[in-house]
Amino acid sequence: MHTILPKEPVICHNLINGEWVKGETGNPDVFSPYNGKKIGEVSIPSEHQIDAALKAAAEAQVLWAKAPIKERSQILFNFRNILIRDMDQIAHLKSAECGKTFSEAKAGLMKGIEVLEFALSIQNLDLGGKVEVSRGVTCEYRREPLGVVANITPFNFPAMVPMWTIPICLALGNAYVWKPSDKTPLTALKIANALTEAGLPKGVFTVLHGGGFTVDAIIDNPVVKAVGFVGSTKVAKIVYQRATNLGKRALALGGAKNHIVLLPDANTELSGMGISDSFTGCAGQRCMAASVLLAVGNVDQHIQKIVERASSLKLGSDMGALITKSQKDFLVDAITKAEKAGAKVILDGRKAVAPAGMEEGNWIGPTILDNVQPGSEAATVELFGPILSIVHCKDISEAMKIENSVEYGNACSVFTSSGPLADRVVRQASTGMVGVNIGVPVPREPFSFGGTNASKYGHGDITGHHSLDFWSNVKKITTKWETQSDNNWMS
Ligand code: NAD
Repeated sequence: MHTILPKEPVICHNLINGEWVKGETGNPDVFSPYNGKKIGEVSIPSEHQIDAALKAAAEAQVLWAKAPIKERSQILFNFRNILIRDMDQIAHLKSAECGKTFSEAKAGLMKGIEVLEFALSIQNLDLGGKVEVSRGVTCEYRREPLGVVANITPFNFPAMVPMWTIPICLALGNAYVWKPSDKTPLTALKIANALTEAGLPKGVFTVLHGGGFTVDAIIDNPVVKAVGFVGSTKVAKIVYQRATNLGKRALALGGAKNHIVLLPDANTELSGMGISDSFTGCAGQRCMAASVLLAVGNVDQHIQKIVERASSLKLGSDMGALITKSQKDFLVDAITKAEKAGAKVILDGRKAVAPAGMEEGNWIGPTILDNVQPGSEAATVELFGPILSIVHCKDISEAMKIENSVEYGNACSVFTSSGPLADRVVRQASTGMVGVNIGVPVPREPFSFGGTNASKYGHGDITGHHSLDFWSNVKKITTKWETQSDNNWMS
């Protein structure tokens, strides 16, 4: 199915204490990457409106936390059913605002629903613990909400990334404040309306739009107890430092430069498909996309397969558009610079033809640069587009040295038929997530998502079991009811 762009601009206000409120700081336009046309407006709140929103969230959280987790989970069950009912509608909107194909937009939402299903399991699996530690004395773990938590999300997954945290934070009894990307505010409207329809009490979920100004005001407000961030490394560092300087807990996921180690014994079909889909999927605008192919020894046949598959993709139906015109210009410039630095352009996306009627959109085709030098811009800088840089290596040691030298640490994959060689790459990779014969090694629930190095600031992961301690407080309770005749120092 092709993406359907909204017929009328969608006006995105702020959700404050259960009401959609027009922001007092302006209404910038939102443009579709597909054709460059206006598809919406996003209204930016004033400091006073942000304060009022957070005050209402803090009040609403007190009652929300008093509801037993089974009651909170019932509302999340309703939320799940509404998202499934409205899935196509939401996917069209997501696709229109961030440039993904319709099927990619739908897949992102389905992954978000998987996190929601994990959050629904917390009530049955996260049972705490109580042990008699001494005669007549018990120790107990009890998980408690933090209060108001805030999350700031990027443009490239307008539903999936927010859904990493919305269901888990709400199930744990927190009030949730969401600052969506200023480039993709439309999906937020749908998600917030679905939560309201599901029966979430007003004030428990807040949407505040804008950029750095809104984020600073949210972080600085004393009611906000924890900050989650997903976006570029540059902003992740700013957000992490601002929140932790105030003594708040913060988890800030940043950018990436992911490597794939391709060995000569790899299955040609499997690697051709996996590597091509990894760097072209979502037009390369995902933090788990392959960016550098470390080609070990003679892998010419495999590279041929990657080129064949990538060059068969049609823009608009198989591959989406880039978020902005300036991002397209940045990529065209990066390809030209790599060429000047000695790389060979074996597949040139600069020449790709835009879909009919979408000529004003931000299109670029899959691009493969061969003979890229380690340390060059194409090998080290996050480009965030459908560009694969091939660096030739004589052996695995050289490949892993290059992989380990890059500042980021999201994902690394290996394509091989050898278990021991795969295990060597798994052990030596510097990343938080590793794939074996998988191009995009995103862990499925209940496994947690999170990188290392400049791809993540803070401790723990943002989803899965490892996220529960971040989004809650674990209270330790030691109890005694009676004097024991055999009291000792531990009683
Ligand atoms: P971005 O850093 O430009 O923006 C992310 C969020 O920060 C947005 O909501 C934006 O409005 C806000 N923001 C922008 N400037 C700010 C400032 N000065 N202070 C506070 N907030 C500010 O990122 P983007 O362009 O929207 O998304 C692409 C980036 O996100 C890529 O680098 C990609 O790798 C990364 N990303 C990482 C992950 C991950 O899991 N590690 C997942 C998705 C995307």
